[in-house]
Amino acid sequence: MRIVLLGPPGAGKGTQAKQISETYKIPHISTGDIFRENMSNDTPLGKKAKEYIAQGLLVPDELVVDMVADRLSQDDVLSANYGYLLDGFPRTVFQAQALSQINAKRDCELDFAINLEVPFDILIERISGRRICPTCQATYHIKYNKPKIEGICDLDGTPLYQREDDKVETVKKRIDVYQEQTEPLIEYYQNKHKIININGLQDMNDVFENIKEILSGVN
Ligand SMILES: [Zn+2]
Repeated sequence: MRIVLLGPPGAGKGTQAKQISETYKIPHISTGDIFRENMSNDTPLGKKAKEYIAQGLLVPDELVVDMVADRLSQDDVLSANYGYLLDGFPRTVFQAQALSQINAKRDCELDFAINLEVPFDILIERISGRRICPTCQATYHIKYNKPKIEGICDLDGTPLYQREDDKVETVKKRIDVYQEQTEPLIEYYQNKHKIININGLQDMNDVFENIKEILSGVN
């Protein structure tokens, strides 16, 4: 089975990716992992990526595509009947077209693009309400998982803090970027009848049950 997982930051992609990968025995491939692997193993692609990063530049689409193509030719993917779950790729229509070409070389097609839908205002509330204990790393939410005393960790009494990444302005920017790049991607997969929209507001287990129901017809 070949799946890509789409959804804005904070929609719970990581949790679903793990469950899908375990249940359907397909490797979970995240672009973050591919980057780290190539760079730490100093592969030719990793070296190129480092040059861009060292100059403070974005790694170009072509190089990202090359790294994904290389990853999709590895044994775990092939032994899963050329199966994979991609997380964080494609991010743009260009990348989606490239993926389609990579698949075509193996006479295969993508089965589904699973789109976890969560309204943006709710994402902002979810992420920006997070508070963290610097001592024990426990996480709280100012509305959904309040500590007993406001702003204080239940476990060790340390004052909680908010990560820079979780601040409203940062979250809004990340969502804007997502929206700008990924909305066309959703349309692209819609036109190819690959998109599966899943209500990401449900409980995590219900989200997964939903995904399983839809995938049960395929193998
Ligand atoms: Zn604590």
